[in-house]
This record gives sequence, C-alpha cells and structure tokens, in this order.
Amino acid sequence: YYNDNTIVYYNGKFLKASEANTDLYGQSLHYGYSVFEGIKSYETNEGTQIFKAQEHYDRLRRSAELLHIPFEYSTQELIDLTYELLERNQFTNAYIRPLVVCSPNMSLSKGKESHLILLAWEWSNGYLGDKMKVMTSTFQRPNPQAFLIEAKVCGHYVNSILACQEAKDNGYDEAILLDEKGYVAESSGANIFYEKEGELFTPAKGSILPGITRSVVIDICKELEIPVHEKFFTPEEMRGADAAFFCGTAAEIVALDSMDNVRFAKEWDESLCSLIQKSYKNKVVGKSINEFKNKIEENA
Ligand code: PMP
Repeated sequence: YYNDNTIVYYNGKFLKASEANTDLYGQSLHYGYSVFEGIKSYETNEGTQIFKAQEHYDRLRRSAELLHIPFEYSTQELIDLTYELLERNQFTNAYIRPLVVCSPNMSLSKGKESHLILLAWEWSNGYLGDKMKVMTSTFQRPNPQAFLIEAKVCGHYVNSILACQEAKDNGYDEAILLDEKGYVAESSGANIFYEKEGELFTPAKGSILPGITRSVVIDICKELEIPVHEKFFTPEEMRGADAAFFCGTAAEIVALDSMDNVRFAKEWDESLCSLIQKSYKNKVVGKSINEFKNKIEENA
C-alpha cells in the first residue's frame, strides 16, 4: 500500500507515511470506535476525477455525527485535501481511504477529539475477482437495533472479516450475509442486485449499508428503463435469479457465477446485469450510457 515516498494526510498536515505514528491509548484502536470511507478516483478526459466525492464525504461526516465523534471538516475541505493528496502522490486511478479516529481517551464515553487520516494508493482493478462463487454465510449482519448500521463504522467490519474468511475456508470467493429475519442483506463489503425476468431487485434498506454505488446502479436502471425494486427477499428467491452481482466503490460491479453452488440461469454476457456493469464503467469516467440504452431497445 505504501513505500518510502508515499504521502499521507494526518493531524492537519501532509507527511510521509513512514513518518506518521499514532497513539496507543485511543478508543479507536481499542474499541473500533472510528469511521471511514472508501472512495475511488479515475483518469478521465477532464483529468483525474474523484467519483461521487460529495456523497462519500457527506456520508463520512454523517457517520461521525451518528457516533458523536467531533469532526470539523466540511465536505469541500475534504474534497480539496483529497485532490491535493492525489496530486502530491501523482495518483490517477486510486483508492482513497479517509479515516476518522479518536484519541487519546480510553473511556466508553463519546470521543473528545478526532483526527483525520487520508491514505491513497494507485489501484486500477477492483478487489474482487471475475464471476464469483458465493455462499450464504452462517454469520448475520449486525442487528440494526444493536448498531447504527447505516454509518460506516470500523468496528462493524469484524463481522465482515468473519463472514469473508468463512466463505474462503469453504472454497468460495465471498459471503452473502442475511439479516436477523433471514432476508438477504449484503456481502462483507458490497451491496447485492439480482435480475429476474427483465427486472432488477436489491435488498431494501434496514440491515444494509445503503451504498453509493447501489444508488448509481438504481439511477442507471432508471436511465436504461429497466424496472428496479428495493425489497426484502430470501436466499431461495435469489438462487432462482437469472443473474446477479455485487456492487461497491471498491468492488465496482462484479458478476456472480453461483450462490451456494447453484449457478445463475443466464450467461453473464447475455444478462441485463452485464449492460449495467458496462454502463457503470462509463459513468465513473463521465461517459454517456446511451449506447446501452439503444442495445436494450434493439433487443426489445
Ligand atoms: N456494504 C458494505 C458493508 C460495504 O462495506 C460497502 C463498501 N463501502 C458497501 C456496501 C458498498 O458501499 P459503496 O457503494 O458506498 O461503496
């Protein structure tokens, strides 16, 4: 992720990653009491652009607010700092990781002081592979009554690590976690969509992180005039789908091959999901998706 020349932003200044240090006596390190974001920048015709920067930083500020973490930066300041970080490191297609940590304080009362950390690394390919085999996890998503599930809290990700590792130990690529009622919620770090008879479905809000990519996909469906529904559904319903994908800033749109060893019915390249994947690739670099709209009309 970094080398001797990597620059990070920490405690109000830009410095070398190798020269940054953190406090051993903080609530973030001890209790996972910190919030973060995962953002991507892309090389476009207008130079390097951070995709959905405003939405990500609004969510970061909202996550901090929900956790009562004092955080003074405005969205615009955060965006400006991030462009400066990319520029200083000469990154174009990068992954950006803002993190808000609390220290020094070891109590279980709300954070008194926070620090902003901005990291980035050059990264052009999504972290998930091509056509993944996924399993329904034995781990549930955290009960929304126990956590602020719509905040992107570091501590929540222990649940993600357990589910992801369980899937890998069983020979799968990733996990699908259910909510406490047994409905499909999301993956360890991405939202889920499936296609059935020309329509798309995604889990309704409640036990998911409502992703920024998920909203982009919903907008793409509207633009392409593909009916899209947010609803609660069971793993059985999902296994009967024509095609399915995970989506997230880092994952982008990644095809699922099978769920619990049941293959999805359609070939990926013949699915509407694959057109959405291509549309997303255009969106992140600011290109139109009209060509895919025409394709759907031709096939109709
Ligand atoms: N769910 C979880 C648990 C995640 O970690 C992520 C990645 N941030 C997502 C969904 C997708 O969110 P986004 O599209 O905003 O990256």
